[in-house]
Amino acid sequence: MPGILYLVPTPIGNLGDVSARAAETLSAVDFIAAEDTRVSVRLLNHLEIKKPLVSYHEHNQAQSGPKILARLQAGESCALVTDAGSPAISDPGEGLVRLCAEHGVPVCAIPGPCAAITALSVSGLSTARFAFEGFLPPQKKERRQRLERLAAEERTMIFYEAPHRLRETLAELEAAFGPERKISLCRELTKLHEEILRTTLHGAAAHYAEAEPRGEFVLIVAGSERRAETVTPEAAADLARSLIADGMSKKDAARQVAAETGVSRNVIYNALISGS
Ligand code: SAM
Repeated sequence: MPGILYLVPTPIGNLGDVSARAAETLSAVDFIAAEDTRVSVRLLNHLEIKKPLVSYHEHNQAQSGPKILARLQAGESCALVTDAGSPAISDPGEGLVRLCAEHGVPVCAIPGPCAAITALSVSGLSTARFAFEGFLPPQKKERRQRLERLAAEERTMIFYEAPHRLRETLAELEAAFGPERKISLCRELTKLHEEILRTTLHGAAAHYAEAEPRGEFVLIVAGSERRAETVTPEAAADLARSLIADGMSKKDAARQVAAETGVSRNVIYNALISGS
C-alpha cells in the first residue's frame, strides 16, 4: 500500500492561520517536503514539531520528485508545504501532485490559506465567476499577448505579482484593458501592513507612480463589461477612427477600442488599414 501525499497549506503572513488539521497532519506524517526548508523550519518551530525535511522546489523537482514518489510508494506518508499558502497554486507543488496522480499514489488536499482566494473575497469585485491567471509570463511580448487575449474576459481576473514588476504590470494592464477598468490591489494580506486599494487601472498606476511598491501583491481586476457581440467590428473601427482623428496612432486606437469593446485588436486594426 502506498502512503499518502498530504498538501498542507501554510499561513500567508499570520501564523495564527495554520489550522488544527494542518498542524496535526504535519505532526503525523513520516516526513515533510518543503519548498524552502529554512522557511518551513520557522513554522515547525512555532508549532513545536520536529520532523525530517526534504527539499522540493522549482530547481530540484526533477531529481527530488522521483525520490519522494519512491518513499510514498514504499508506504511512507509525506506532507508537502510551500513557502506560503496552498501547495500547487502557482508554486512547484503542482508537479509533485501530477507525479503522484500518474503513479496511483493518493493525494489528500487540506483546505487553508490561499492568497488568491483571500484577495478575491476582500476585493469588492464580482466573485460569481473568476479566472485565476497567476503570474503573467516574464517576457514582454508574451505578457502583452496574454493581456490582449484577456481584454474581453468577462470574469473577474486574479493575478499574482512581485513588487518590482508592479508598475510595469499596471501600465500594461491599463494599455490592454483601458484606464477605467476597476482593480483591487491587495497588499500584505493577513500581515501588519495589510492594505486594500480599490480603484481603477489608471488610479492604481497614478498611486504607484508616487508610492514605492513594497510587499506582496494580489491584483484583482474586474472583467470586461461589454460583450464583443454587442459592438460590431464596423462600429469598433468607427470608434477607433474617432480616436485617430484626435491624434492617436492606429495601433494605440485599435488597442484601446479592443479593450473597451472586446472586439479583437487585429480585427479593428485590419479594418483601419484596409480602409473598410
Ligand atoms: N501557493 C500560494 C498561495 O496559495 O497563495 C501562492 C504562491 S506564489 C509563489 C506567491 C505569490 O502569492 C506572491 O508573489 C503574491 O502575489 C501572492 N501572495 C502570497 N502571500 C501574500 C500576501 N500575504 N499578500 C498578498 N499577496 C500574497
